Amino acid sequence: MVSRLILLSVLAVTPNLLAAAEFRAGAAVGDITPSEWPVYLVGSFSERPAEEAWDPLSARALVLDDGETRLAIVIVDSCLIPRTLFDEVKRQASQATGIRPDRMLMAATHTHSAPASLDRLFAKASDEYLKVLKGGIVDSIKQAAANLEPAEIGWGQVDVPEHVHNRRWYMKPGGIVPDPFGETTDQVRMNPPRGRGLLDRAAGPVDPQVSFISVRGKDGRPIALLANYSLHYVGNVPAGGVSSDYFGEFARQIKERIASDDDDQRPPFVGILSNGTSGDVNNINFRNPQPRKKPFEQIRYVAGSVADEVAKVYKTTKHRDSVTLAMAQRELTLDIRKPTEEELARAKRFLAEPDEAKLPRRAKAYAAFAVDLAEMPPTETIILQALRIGEVGIAAIPCEVFAEIGLHIKEQSPVKPSFTIELANGWNRYLPTPRQHRLGGYETWLGTNMLEIHASDKIQAVVLDLLHEVASGEPGASRDDAGR
Ligand SMILES: [Zn+2]
Repeated sequence: MVSRLILLSVLAVTPNLLAAAEFRAGAAVGDITPSEWPVYLVGSFSERPAEEAWDPLSARALVLDDGETRLAIVIVDSCLIPRTLFDEVKRQASQATGIRPDRMLMAATHTHSAPASLDRLFAKASDEYLKVLKGGIVDSIKQAAANLEPAEIGWGQVDVPEHVHNRRWYMKPGGIVPDPFGETTDQVRMNPPRGRGLLDRAAGPVDPQVSFISVRGKDGRPIALLANYSLHYVGNVPAGGVSSDYFGEFARQIKERIASDDDDQRPPFVGILSNGTSGDVNNINFRNPQPRKKPFEQIRYVAGSVADEVAKVYKTTKHRDSVTLAMAQRELTLDIRKPTEEELARAKRFLAEPDEAKLPRRAKAYAAFAVDLAEMPPTETIILQALRIGEVGIAAIPCEVFAEIGLHIKEQSPVKPSFTIELANGWNRYLPTPRQHRLGGYETWLGTNMLEIHASDKIQAVVLDLLHEVASGEPGASRDDAGR
């Protein structure tokens, strides 16, 4: 009741709040390409220095405003970004724009050719690069908010199944290899050898759907297109340089297809590709191995194919100028998995072993992970979000989410259509279902995996609850009672 009174009094003294209830959109790109070299790339089990940029790294921001709620979505060309960094950037961007931190969704794309944003085993985050990264994200939101203009919005979906393959496989006898702990209890194998007769069947589904939201100016000029596809990344980027992988290439190619190629257009069109739920989905066709292509060839091919399909649907997409926005955020505290005393002792033994050849593959890396997890606090609090943009629902989860979880959310969401953006607002490693945990494999190993076994059930429940809140527009959940 109190909040309603406050709301009424705010409306009474600012009558133009209602009069200004017009849908507006703005988009912008912040440059996060390193300025000092070398940088160290994150996303593999080896040290990978880079001395140059094969293509720019960007933070791509979309700010939307329905006259009552203003929100920002920023997709960042990075492999993973921890919550602490996103929280800091949200505070800065909020100070600069007035947009509430809990009205910002920020996510990494998962390019495996970007500098570290936190210290990992083979890549330390440099202070210089962190400055570039944070500054670029804040810039993108500031500029997108400054670019707000009366707009119209449309959305669509299209299935593009040919590029997504579940990467976890049941194997025929002899196909399971020892894990980094020396055990052979895995029932499935990640990225198994192709076409060697050892493959039995894939251990999970894929989500072939590309979802997109398009915003245009009142004159029909495209402002931005935010797409979502559940593909880990494409890769085959030559060593020694940074790259946005197919995420940046999609942005370039969708621009060629639907926007003016006039680079003087102000503000310029912004294409954005967010990562869906691709924790167990990559671009390798295991059943029918494809010949290896030249560097960037596959990146251009996949990005171009996805852009083609989106552009086809876009041509017949209806845009409307009055939609409402809603956003809800909730924190969830989850247990962190810990090594048992026995596992910890083994990890320490592995770390002390001078001859690595005596140990299972990647034993030392996982031993270091185990020690690290043992030293972490017992729980971690993560941010979950749901957004409603017109009739489209978006869920945001800070993990590398398995495809079946994304499919479940799409099916159960009260907002249709819905999609999930992963690696959002933080990074808590892989998110398999409890069933997938029982199957074992890379994404469930202690180290690549850190959240309690039932994390996905708890996360799904909260995310669906939040989608119900934004669907119904419950006071306090979806509306900004006290301004922005
Ligand atoms: Zn990954």
